[in-house]
Amino acid sequence: MLNIKDFLRRVQNKIWRLYNHKLPEFLSILQFLWLLHIGSKEMLVNQKSAMIIAPHQDDEVLGCGGLIRLKREQNVPVQIVFVTDGAASHGKHPKFQRSEIVPIRKQEALCALSILGIDKSQIYFLDKPDSHLQYLDASKRQQTIEQLAKLLKSFGPGEVYVTHRQDRIKDHEVTYELLLAAIQYSEIEVDVLQYPIWILWKSLLFRDLKLGELASAHRISIHSVQSKKMEALEAYRSQCLPIDAETAAVLKPGFLRRFLIPYEIFFKPTSMLSNQYSNR
Ligand SMILES: [Zn+2]
Repeated sequence: MLNIKDFLRRVQNKIWRLYNHKLPEFLSILQFLWLLHIGSKEMLVNQKSAMIIAPHQDDEVLGCGGLIRLKREQNVPVQIVFVTDGAASHGKHPKFQRSEIVPIRKQEALCALSILGIDKSQIYFLDKPDSHLQYLDASKRQQTIEQLAKLLKSFGPGEVYVTHRQDRIKDHEVTYELLLAAIQYSEIEVDVLQYPIWILWKSLLFRDLKLGELASAHRISIHSVQSKKMEALEAYRSQCLPIDAETAAVLKPGFLRRFLIPYEIFFKPTSMLSNQYSNR
């Protein structure tokens, strides 16, 4: 017979689980729906040329796949820059070597982006070490900034899209910092829009973002190209599907569902300079 001690322990475990897992998950879904339907302003895709900076091969499709396709359908020039080599996605796999995944993800990126209308001549791989951007020493960091600055100067985009400055994955946040440094270094003027990936999943926006930044959220409708975005995402088989029978997929179905909707969200602060430095 269940004694009172066991019963109380079970109740305690249930409450602990609800509080630590189910409640944050529920709040995360609520905030996502709020941002999508109430907390963001509608934005139309414009004719400005765009450079998409992606820390890893898949971020560009998750965050901006619809936008890329919509721009390309209007013949707007778009370039993609991948900062890391993507080697870490299967880092804990018992058999898979880090170096084995790099060519696979590169090939997937070319395939995904061709579905979105990007020629391979418009795609750049900087091949920095995946999951180690924050550990780059001063000279390697400066080299990366100069590489980005060179690409920015030669392409001269009207807009740059980059992962959110508080995206809850270090590579994503450092990519934002590297881009800002590159813009300063190249002395160009360009609109910077941040796309959220993990912040919509791992974070509580009301707690982590200032009101001014929350108010800068915009959404674009990607209804007409949603199926193309899905197709492009499916091209990343190594990320969306289990790589073998022994392991689960890198990107969980619940996470992917947040990106398979007919909208994309971008944060577009009115004053980038005041936002990027004074709020840090
Ligand atoms: Zn990423």
